[in-house]
Amino acid sequence: MMKVYEELKFENPDGGAWKQGWRVTYPEGKWNSDNLLHVFVLPHSHTDPGWVKKYMDYYTQQTKPILDNVLNFLSADPRRRFIYAELSFFSLWWESLSESRKQQARKVLRNGQLEIATGGWVMNDEANTHYAAMVDQLIEGNQYIHAVSGFAPRSGWAIDPFGHTPTMAYLLNRSGVKGMLVQRVHYAIKKHLARSQNLEFMWRQLWDKDGSSDTLCHVMPFYSYDVPHTCGPDPKICCQFDFARMSPGRYNCPWRVPPQAITEGNVADRAAMLIDQYKKKASLYRSNALFIPLGDDFRYDQAEECERQFNNYQKIFDYLDKNPQLGVKAQFGTLSEYFDKIHELSGSEPGSRPREYPVLTGDFFTYADKNDHYWSGYFTSRPFQKQMDRNIETNLRSAEIAFSLAAVYQRKHRLSGFPEDQLMRLLVEARRNLGLFQHHDGITGTAKDFVVVDYGERSERGITLSSLCYIYKVREGDNSQFFVLYIFT
Ligand SMILES: [Zn+2]
Repeated sequence: MMKVYEELKFENPDGGAWKQGWRVTYPEGKWNSDNLLHVFVLPHSHTDPGWVKKYMDYYTQQTKPILDNVLNFLSADPRRRFIYAELSFFSLWWESLSESRKQQARKVLRNGQLEIATGGWVMNDEANTHYAAMVDQLIEGNQYIHAVSGFAPRSGWAIDPFGHTPTMAYLLNRSGVKGMLVQRVHYAIKKHLARSQNLEFMWRQLWDKDGSSDTLCHVMPFYSYDVPHTCGPDPKICCQFDFARMSPGRYNCPWRVPPQAITEGNVADRAAMLIDQYKKKASLYRSNALFIPLGDDFRYDQAEECERQFNNYQKIFDYLDKNPQLGVKAQFGTLSEYFDKIHELSGSEPGSRPREYPVLTGDFFTYADKNDHYWSGYFTSRPFQKQMDRNIETNLRSAEIAFSLAAVYQRKHRLSGFPEDQLMRLLVEARRNLGLFQHHDGITGTAKDFVVVDYGERSERGITLSSLCYIYKVREGDNSQFFVLYIFT
């Protein structure tokens, strides 16, 4: 990437329908019944644990209804899929479920309909965060989902952090992830990579000489993760395939052409429009597999929206199945299913390098989403909170070490009175509060003031809690050993 940053002129010519790109074309007949384009459409909902609302308000008002809906709609039809990432919300939801609903949720996790991606407590910021806190929140989330359901994440999903670091690729790789997706990359870099079909690559650490930690990475090509910017290069067309924007409804299309419900009478025309976008998007990538996210911020919170999206898309998929000469096999599919298809088509194993895929080193900072709108202010904004974050990390780590030593000591000497379970619960709470602040609207400073106050209060509790077992002393005398654990409340 260093070479790219040096050589690229970072110009911003008007590309037409794809404003930051160019007029994409593809050879007529490239995809046909003998050479299918395999399209994986993946419903998603981006749920920030704090941004313009506080964490708990987002949960009760929006996120809980989303996860309830998703479970109902996935259970009703095994062809449906969904991806979800924020364990801070998922854990609250899980604790609210009855045992039978938990069984239902375990089933859709086990059969691959619901994919938990990354497994982080949050979708962490990648610029201000210290790697130790990134690891900590990754462990907290991964352990939680594994403990309650046995699920282990295989794919990384980072659609909203404001720039991306190779450190995240490394941590994901070491946590067992085989492929990852990133979105907020400078528009000129996206265009540069798309020109040479290099939007998918093996992301290598600068220090890694043999590529042993290479991770398959997919960069989304267009401006945003909403539906207008994910089906293909023309947002005016793609918006018509966000069926949540059908009239009457809460959302609409700024390009002033609303979606139409799919019927027997219009399916041929609508499918032709959509697969033209799919084929244009596919021409930016090397593989005959294509990934299409289908969602936006806090989507699927109403049953009607779920119904519109799942049912209208299924009608298009069914039509394409009956018409293989169109060259597209489309279905709902998770990110892991998409990555698996890439490997299947290239004859490679998950975790290894697909045939002819490039290797990339370096990072994706500083991000600009359009014109000269550089996202660099958040590197230094709200410095008090950024400093407090580091202080809490120090306290928490010290507390964890002190706790471990004390626990081992009391077990070895069979001492009674050490409140191990109680302290463990407090440590977990402190970890989760610190984890929450690693969210890309937390430590970055991009949340509203009252949300920042909420984070502050939670973190303050974290300081107190971690101080509970911070001071630990072991003295070894001639004949006696004792330890003192000071508890501050
Ligand atoms: Zn976000």
